[in-house]
Amino acid sequence: MTNCIESKKGITTNGYSRIRFGNKSIQAHRWTWELINGEIPAGLVIDHICKNKKCVVVDHLRMVTQQENIMAGLRNIDNRTHCNQGHPFVKENIMVRVNGRRECAECNRIRARKNYARKVSA
Ligand SMILES: [Zn+2]
Ligand SMILES: [Zn+2]
Repeated sequence: MTNCIESKKGITTNGYSRIRFGNKSIQAHRWTWELINGEIPAGLVIDHICKNKKCVVVDHLRMVTQQENIMAGLRNIDNRTHCNQGHPFVKENIMVRVNGRRECAECNRIRARKNYARKVSA
């Protein structure tokens, strides 16, 4: 694979680079993709094969569905098959945060229930 070219513009808290156009902004890698391949259809996301979120080399990008991206992430970054509490990391049990982190949906439900219990008992 060729070397990554990183966009240094407007790095967001989730590690992606955003380019501003007037009052709109777009992720740098999405912008590069659209420039070459045309508009990204709704529901599809651009995944970095090189795992470098700031990279804008089109050869390092691929268009996948959100779900494929989650599963690819599971395999490549986080190959745990269960969360820390032992709940299986199957696609029905994965929550994806805006920052791209995956979380166990079951643990989130348990946490939410605890928070609720604390609130009503306070
Ligand atoms: Zn790259
Ligand atoms: Zn869990």
